Amino acid sequence: MNRNTEKSFFSKIYVVIALLIAILGLLLYLILSGGADRIQQAISSQDHPAHTVTPDADTQQPDESQKPATADASKTPESSASTEPQKTDEPSESPSEEPSESGKESTSPEPTEEAAKITDDIDSNDSLTKIVSPARTIDPAYVPADLVVPDVPYILDENQNFMRRDAAEAMERMFAAAAEEGHELFLISGYRSYDFQKELQKFWITQKGKKYAAELDSMPGGSEHQLGLAADIGTTDGCCELDVCFAETQAYAWLKENAWKYGYIERYPSGKQEITGITYSPWNFRYVGTDAAERIYHSGKTMEEYYNLS
Ligand SMILES: [Zn+2]
Repeated sequence: MNRNTEKSFFSKIYVVIALLIAILGLLLYLILSGGADRIQQAISSQDHPAHTVTPDADTQQPDESQKPATADASKTPESSASTEPQKTDEPSESPSEEPSESGKESTSPEPTEEAAKITDDIDSNDSLTKIVSPARTIDPAYVPADLVVPDVPYILDENQNFMRRDAAEAMERMFAAAAEEGHELFLISGYRSYDFQKELQKFWITQKGKKYAAELDSMPGGSEHQLGLAADIGTTDGCCELDVCFAETQAYAWLKENAWKYGYIERYPSGKQEITGITYSPWNFRYVGTDAAERIYHSGKTMEEYYNLS
């Protein structure tokens, strides 16, 4: 009977041990499997939300938080700053309008002056603003088509008393106005042909030398006398004829002040020889028309400077 009891006892113990092992194994499985899932879930739940949160936090949260935050925060600065700059803009608008107006004023004369320069034709032979110089010679064959003899006192040399019609009529008015104020002007030399210029240049070379002749406006093809628009002017008393001392006469003073009103300008002023190519010639006046003469005279420039040729 003891063996039976022992067998039953051991058999019970085996059964209990087997059950305990099974329970422990099941528990281990549950713990391990469930813990691993929880760990994975915990990791994934930490990673994924962390990954999704951080970009969202960078993009959305800062935007959403900054939008109201910066909007609220910037509204007051912006509103205060926008009103303050507006206040500062308001006073600065009136000064800024003034410069813009002054800018318009400063720019408006420039375009008109530039436009006037462009409309003035300094290249066509028949243009009243044609420029001829030793550096800008003219065709030897050019002869103005409308040469006339102005009704003014002139030297007996009838080869030099022609002028183009507009210049001649203006000269008559100018000389008449000067005479009313006691200045008896007369025409020394007007239109000169290319061939006449050649003879004149020879004359000056023999009289004063090549250097002196080269500084005068006697170069064949390089003189505006060939245009019929240049006039050497003197006084009937012959004082300082074709001499720089003519600048000291009352007649010259009158011409310098009034010639532009009749379309004439002093063509070779003092100190401009390097620009014009011609020596100081206070007796030489050039007809350019009243419009151009007014602009050039008030610019204080030579034609070369006024038309940007210098
Ligand atoms: Zn001359």
